[in-house]
Amino acid sequence: MTDYYETIGNIKERAEACRACPCAQSRSQVVLYRGTLEPRILFVGQSPGSKEDEMGVPFVGPAGALLEEALITCRIDSFGIINIINCFPPNNKYRDEFGVACRPFLLDKLRIFAPAAKYLVMLGRDAQEAIRIVQTQQPQLLSHLNFHHIIHPAAVLRNRSWQSKWDEGWKHLKERIDDSS
Ligand code: SF4
Repeated sequence: MTDYYETIGNIKERAEACRACPCAQSRSQVVLYRGTLEPRILFVGQSPGSKEDEMGVPFVGPAGALLEEALITCRIDSFGIINIINCFPPNNKYRDEFGVACRPFLLDKLRIFAPAAKYLVMLGRDAQEAIRIVQTQQPQLLSHLNFHHIIHPAAVLRNRSWQSKWDEGWKHLKERIDDSS
């Protein structure tokens, strides 16, 4: 347990000192992780929003509320949530180069939180793409995981016609979890 806190503390220190992309100027603080220490399901989102930037915790804004609702409905209590970048991006707009700059941190977070997990759930296309690249570069790191993709909750909030896609993604995830338990 001590190692865990030391490792997270070390990542936090390095992220706070990081100036590798323009998000260093737009962030108030770094946002790393939320969840249990050894999550069964690891969710990967895109970037912290303004609420996350204020609180220093992933998925605590409106998109987080939608995610929370789905977690409760599906009775998922062993979960962890990370983003592919650690900092609130300028104008709240993610760009691929931020993901490239932050990839060493994504790898660090995956090294800590993925080993105990059984499922890795990518929220949205940017997370899907980032994980695809990690799989190419470090095939062993995630080889034990089952992968699942769900539309990003922020996309559902922007366009309510995607609600059914969101519901469908969670339904399939629940079926997979139930089948394997
Ligand atoms: S988003 Fe990542 S790469 Fe960019 S400044 Fe923050 S920690 Fe550094």
